[in-house]
Amino acid sequence: MTASLKPILAPRSIALAGVSSRPDSLSIKLLDNLLASGFTGRIYPVNPRASSIRELPCYPSVTAIGAPVDLAVLMVPRDLVIPTVDECLAAGVGGVVVITAGFREGGEEGAALERELVSRLRASGVRMVGPNCMGVINTAPDVRLDATFSPTPALPGPVAFASHSGALGVAVLEAAAEAGLGFSQFVSVGNSADVNVNDVLEYWESDERTRAVMLYLESLDEPRRFLEVASRLTARMPVIALKAGRTAAGQRAASSHTGALAAADTAVDALLAQAGVLRATTLEEMFEVALGAQSCPAPRGRRVAVVTNAGGPAIVAADALATHGLELAPLTAATQAEIRSFLPAEASVADPVDMLPSARPEDYRRALGLVLADEGVDAAVAIAVTPPQGSALEVAEAIASQARGCAKPVVSVFMTAARFYPQAHRIPGMPPVYRYPEGGVRALAALVRHGERRHDRGGEVPVVASPTLDGAVARARWGYLPQAEAFAVLEEIGIPVAPWRPARDLEAAVRAAEELGFPVVLKGEASALVHKSEMGAVQVNLASPAAVRQAGLGMADRLAAAGLQLDGFVVQRLVPGGREVILGVSRDPAVGPLLMVGLGGVAVEVWKDVVFRPVPVTTGEAFGMIEALRGAPLLGEFRGRPAGDVASLAEAAARLGALAAAVPELAECDVNPLFVLDQGRGCVAVDVRLRLAP
Ligand code: ADP
Ligand code: MG
Repeated sequence: MTASLKPILAPRSIALAGVSSRPDSLSIKLLDNLLASGFTGRIYPVNPRASSIRELPCYPSVTAIGAPVDLAVLMVPRDLVIPTVDECLAAGVGGVVVITAGFREGGEEGAALERELVSRLRASGVRMVGPNCMGVINTAPDVRLDATFSPTPALPGPVAFASHSGALGVAVLEAAAEAGLGFSQFVSVGNSADVNVNDVLEYWESDERTRAVMLYLESLDEPRRFLEVASRLTARMPVIALKAGRTAAGQRAASSHTGALAAADTAVDALLAQAGVLRATTLEEMFEVALGAQSCPAPRGRRVAVVTNAGGPAIVAADALATHGLELAPLTAATQAEIRSFLPAEASVADPVDMLPSARPEDYRRALGLVLADEGVDAAVAIAVTPPQGSALEVAEAIASQARGCAKPVVSVFMTAARFYPQAHRIPGMPPVYRYPEGGVRALAALVRHGERRHDRGGEVPVVASPTLDGAVARARWGYLPQAEAFAVLEEIGIPVAPWRPARDLEAAVRAAEELGFPVVLKGEASALVHKSEMGAVQVNLASPAAVRQAGLGMADRLAAAGLQLDGFVVQRLVPGGREVILGVSRDPAVGPLLMVGLGGVAVEVWKDVVFRPVPVTTGEAFGMIEALRGAPLLGEFRGRPAGDVASLAEAAARLGALAAAVPELAECDVNPLFVLDQGRGCVAVDVRLRLAP
């Protein structure tokens, strides 16, 4: 697979089919870029009406070149694309980039042409980037390929970039040059008719110059394959994605909580998170994080030292750290004393280290060196507003001298004149430069997330089986499973259920309560009833037969008043003192089954504190989902209460996820609530709804 992209991304010879001799044409701009980039291979312009272009001899056709051609870049009019591709195949071309537009993006006629194009290529095994794309770049010194219309050459660097939008991609390249972001490769995938983002990611896996990946996505091609490839990549390098647009929400029955909470974008988010991809919400953030990833190692922890010559920006930085779950590092007394030794008495030497406006470049060098050497510091933010003495550039050099080769990441924030920035990028070893503290902190926070990715990969996917569910599927019993069977499914896959009995009428309910032991919970069953407590059909903490009778009569009245037929009761032992959590499964048309973990109970849709992941997940990944909940502290030690049994919750979540992965007919499931008991006591489900669909 990856070898087949080599002729496209590292060609030794290129034919430019349809390059025009008009000086203002786009196609000649591409030729000019190719020449300016210093392409190390041979260039063959193809144009039947010109004898030479830019002093290169021109060929009437690709076949007329008469020498091996690795890559053909097609800029011919749309209706000539297929004949030209045929010619390329006849000439034994290794790969094709089709710049020409007017295919699938332009309607049914174009779509038909695109299908035709793909079928010819597939038959030959030759790969194609495009159509409707802006070309490819590879800055490797032995290739030096810029086959795009980019107005600004890409700086060489470690970031590989793929974009669904060609125009946006080129705009990003332009802005990147200004920000000092350097690229190993750029691929404008266009319509992705053949080569898609996943293929490119796979190629980058083995590209030794690529150390970070940036993606602008408008859709997810082959989501499951993306998950696989991107997961492998993120284990080795940060992958930053800006996903624009929304997925087709598809058909989703929203009768379950999980279904209602799975918004259109949930599946994409879940998939990116599961793959360990850092999702940026704005272009700016994508840039910020890529800048950080370009030159910083991932921090080992969340403790950040701030070194500044101005108090205000340091406070802004401290706030941003807190917002992103990072913390100010507590500096050791020794570090503080050493910093104190060369700063004025008014300076603050605890984190943030405020060296005051009088700080000289030398002070930055020493203070930054000391905080980076402190054991309690995982990363540093160096902030400078235009210093009254010395120049910002000298401060930048001082910062670079400490950041260079340091195993801990440093980001810098300069709030100074515009002319500073392009000069700063030229300082060797200069850490990423941001104009505002928030940008630098956002980048650090993303790198921390990338670094922590390794932790939530542990554990295994549990092996589960449910004969009850398999039986229902075999007999095509679509729709909701009866309560008894749904509980049985949970027990079969190892999720404990609170002891319960079905009861046809009130007297049977009282007998059941006596068998189970008081106190009990009484639940009214009606087939049309989705959320029982909404109709007063759940009565908890009933301590006597009389209480059960009274509750049952009231329930019957309420259901009758609502025109609902009471089918019977469920009597359940009361589970005291657990924390209510929801586990759920919903199905996304593109991504497949998603597992949800959230803070549960009847108000789950109010709090919306839920995390989704594609299944299956390991127990370690389930742990990561629990940690990602805003309300996660409620499951820990809280206000004198012992911690909840989070390990058993993670186990239960992973088990439900494994079931969803194994049984595609499991369309929806809510386990709500699952009570998480105190540490060592496990968890127990008291309510489950489970729907099967073909
Ligand atoms: P529904 O979700 O259909 O309204 P549930 O069976 O989930 O009905 O019950 C609603 C609420 O009642 C639960 O969120 C929980 O707070 C409480 N509850 C239900 N069963 C029990 C039980 N066995 N022990 C303790 N509380 C329970
Ligand atoms: Mg419930």
